[in-house]
Amino acid sequence: MRPRLHNLIFVFMALGVVVGGLLARVEGNPAWLGTVLDVFDFIGREVFIGLLKMIIAPLILVSIVAGVTSIPSFEDAGRIGVRTLAYYVTTTTIAVVIGLVFVLTIQPGNQSHAENLRAKRTAELEERRTEFEQATGKPSRDNEPEFLSWLAAREGETQSAAHEKYERVTAKRDRGTYQSFIEDIVRPMLMNPFEALARRNSLGIIFWSLLLGLACMAVGPKARPLIDLFQSANGVIMKLTMWLMAISPVAIFCLIAAVIVRQGPEVFASLAWYCGTVIAGIGAHVAVLLAICAVIGRMNPITFLRGIREAWAIAFATRSSAATLPVTVRCLTQKLGVRPRVANFTLPVGATVNMDGTALYEGVAVIFLIQIYGGMDDVGITLAGGAILVIFITAVLASVGAAAVPDAGLVTMVLVATAVHLPVYYLPFIFGVDAFLDMFRTSTNVMGDAIGAVVVDRFEGGDETVSEAASAESPEP
Ligand code: ASP
Repeated sequence: MRPRLHNLIFVFMALGVVVGGLLARVEGNPAWLGTVLDVFDFIGREVFIGLLKMIIAPLILVSIVAGVTSIPSFEDAGRIGVRTLAYYVTTTTIAVVIGLVFVLTIQPGNQSHAENLRAKRTAELEERRTEFEQATGKPSRDNEPEFLSWLAAREGETQSAAHEKYERVTAKRDRGTYQSFIEDIVRPMLMNPFEALARRNSLGIIFWSLLLGLACMAVGPKARPLIDLFQSANGVIMKLTMWLMAISPVAIFCLIAAVIVRQGPEVFASLAWYCGTVIAGIGAHVAVLLAICAVIGRMNPITFLRGIREAWAIAFATRSSAATLPVTVRCLTQKLGVRPRVANFTLPVGATVNMDGTALYEGVAVIFLIQIYGGMDDVGITLAGGAILVIFITAVLASVGAAAVPDAGLVTMVLVATAVHLPVYYLPFIFGVDAFLDMFRTSTNVMGDAIGAVVVDRFEGGDETVSEAASAESPEP
């Protein structure tokens, strides 16, 4: 008997952890290890993620137009939109609250190792003061604002030399709210659709597809040929996705092994309390999501987990909700019987704006850093109620603004950090474990979107239409 794909995926995932763990122990960085990593990157990143990315832009366009045009009326479309939005707002809020409760209770930044970190940083700051005094001839304590801006530049240079991600993270730091709103939301949304497709700009494609779908509905029978075209293209894209899944086990093996070799177990150990807090929070949030799935979506969580496991594994390994999107749509429509018109509409939107794992992570990360460094000369903040409220609000916004690609959460974390005056040069402290935690947050993001589709589908009368939806799609080979 041929082993089933979802079983193979998990076997290869485990193999990736074992092989990655063994390779991480190899000492001296021999040349062959570099070659092995190149092969892993080629198969996992270049070929597999490359193929998934190739499908994303046409998939979003085709699935949203096909989804919207199979909704019977404008009124129904509005209702689905409002329910989807209500679900996203509620679950993202729950995610941030869970993250805050966990980080404030577990206090990962106040454990034994934090004392050493604080002492080290205090000594470092004294050294910087001496440097400043030598460079400027002024006493640093009498010129605190000048010292702090000198320090920001000095630390920024040091950190960017050490972490290539730092530049990316801080590039957008100095923009105002209005400018960020225009540049990150309005302009991408109103981009010419061909450019949006070419640049894989999800917001632009989503907005254009929604308008196109609604216009087709408004035109009525005369738009039928166009609607049929999109609906048939939708089936074809699902078939492409299915073909692509054939190499997913090997690709997942490569992706996971490469992350483990690069990050190494020691990095995890040094930030174990922090990683443990994020993972525990994510575990609790997944439990809440599964409860929502059972109680509101009326779907047995075990059935749900069995149906979604391929998408979960791909999200974990690729660290991109967008790259996982084709598989998520396939799992929901073909395995869990969610009506295509609901899944096709809600999942692309969810992958772009609904990120529970990211929202939870943003709050935990910033509070963790404040727990360690709050009260230092250059961190003028401690954890008072007001600061927590600001973190709560900005974490939600940062999750909506994060692109559905690897490391995106780290980039938008600048918004949260600057809102509470935590200097961004403290962020590189957690860069080391970011790829590792990105696996957990991305798979949670995808799970949140999937349960959203189950819940909305149930209110659309999904219970009776399970078989109709499943049979509307081509069966697995
Ligand atoms: N990688 C995440 C995603 O694609 C976003 C993030 O970095 O938090 O959903």
